[in-house]
Amino acid sequence: MTIREIITVPNPLLKTISEPVKVIDDEVLSLIDDMIETMYAAPGIGLAAIQVGVPKRILVIDIAREDEARNPLSFINPEIIDPSEILNSFEEGCLSVPGVFEEIERPDECTVKYLDKDGVEQSVRCKGMLATVIQHEMDHLNGVVFVDHLSKLKRDRAIKKSIKSRTSEKNNNE
Ligand SMILES: [Zn+2]
Repeated sequence: MTIREIITVPNPLLKTISEPVKVIDDEVLSLIDDMIETMYAAPGIGLAAIQVGVPKRILVIDIAREDEARNPLSFINPEIIDPSEILNSFEEGCLSVPGVFEEIERPDECTVKYLDKDGVEQSVRCKGMLATVIQHEMDHLNGVVFVDHLSKLKRDRAIKKSIKSRTSEKNNNE
């Protein structure tokens, strides 16, 4: 397994609409393994393939708490159906927008349909935190990052802040 480089804003690749996976071959399976490894190393709780520069409709998620066993979930060609009318807001962050955390409102529940690693169609009803993470990651497959849900003013400020936080990190390391 390889830890891959995570791309960050304003990299235009993040605006790519990812393509469905046609065949679940060794390349796809090793990409999923790498994505899981990369997510844990970051550390993060979710990652979309485009965040490592691969425009394929694949997500990995692990929302297990630190004191729980790891529980990596992978979703191939996920689709969200039946979002609830009830909304909930969580403070979100993103490995592609480091240094920025903002409250984002999304449906509190949704169902995700996807293929598992064996190519078998699965469907799961998600609530609360998992629903938020799934919707956040799904956005990436459609070229959307979470700060795109903010007003233009707040979004521009968030992206500037993220870029600045990385520059000052670099300077501190020099
Ligand atoms: Zn993200």
